[in-house]
Amino acid sequence: MERQKYLVTGGAGFIGSHLVDALLARGEPVVVLDDLSTGRLENLATAREQRHFQFVHGSVLDASLVDTLVSECGGVVHLAAAVGVKLIVEEPLSSFIINTKGTETVIESAHRYGSRIMIASTSEIYGKNSSGPLKETSDRVLGSPSVPRWSYSTAKAVDEILAELYRREHGLRSTVVRFFNTVGPRQSPAYGMVIPRFARQAVRGEPLTVYGTGRQSRCFLHVADAVEALLSLIDLPDAVGETFNIGSDEEISILDLAERTIACAESTSSVRRLSYSEAYGPEFEDMERRVPDTTKLRAFTAWQPQRNLDDVLADAVADARSEMRQQVGGLVV
Ligand code: UDP
Repeated sequence: MERQKYLVTGGAGFIGSHLVDALLARGEPVVVLDDLSTGRLENLATAREQRHFQFVHGSVLDASLVDTLVSECGGVVHLAAAVGVKLIVEEPLSSFIINTKGTETVIESAHRYGSRIMIASTSEIYGKNSSGPLKETSDRVLGSPSVPRWSYSTAKAVDEILAELYRREHGLRSTVVRFFNTVGPRQSPAYGMVIPRFARQAVRGEPLTVYGTGRQSRCFLHVADAVEALLSLIDLPDAVGETFNIGSDEEISILDLAERTIACAESTSSVRRLSYSEAYGPEFEDMERRVPDTTKLRAFTAWQPQRNLDDVLADAVADARSEMRQQVGGLVV
């Protein structure tokens, strides 16, 4: 029997490319649709050597292309999105359109062909809710629509609502996954993500830029554990119509994270505080605390993260070092 093909939108990106590698390793045929705006072909170097892999350069806004690809695949994982606080703040309109219209296009095709679809959402959905571990049913605390950061949260909420309404009215077989902070090899520091930024600053001996008080906290999950969570849900019949948090529960303040990164890299870097307005402009608002409750994911699957924050940091520092080696033509400085 021929195996079902998966379409992974955004498969040249950070989480996407790791998922593609894992699916191919399981022997599943994979088609990637990516516009390479933030994704990179280098991320698919291993995948492109495999027989059951196809890369399509294009956008999720191209409805006829999306329709053709979805018609050829049984399962869809929709990861294509504009992500990263810096990107969202600097390019808010195009980000919003990709994150709403793009998802609508993919959902419409999945509905048309009766495909099962997994949709990537985000912990930003919870908005300014800084209470204790956030459950899937926790409230969204809405920031003002005029504050740039919240446009991302709003776009992803639109995606979740679309999926839910298609499911109720047309029986769409969808699963929503809300990624909390996810870190690992291939994550670009260009769009604001704190750990790749800190790791690069530390290996270069530059000051680590801590925004705000540094008392705000996050939990960082290794991308390999995030991919394991996706694989455990991808075909699970009970996951249809459900929403899951995916994240680590090891909480750390950003100031402590800076110190831990410096120690991990055995660096002489200092810490430099920057105000939010210096970092992102005058109207920026941060999330004070963001901790997932992953009870639901653990109840539906056998998922357990295998790596802790030390593993995450060690990988990020190794990644930053290897990038620096390439930049100086093989010389370690
Ligand atoms: N941050 C920081 N320095 C940086 C980049 C980010 O202090 O160079 C902070 C940021 O303000 C936030 C946290 O680190 O409080 C995580 O930021 P990131 O953009 O990685 O993800 P977020 O959780 O905000 O989506």
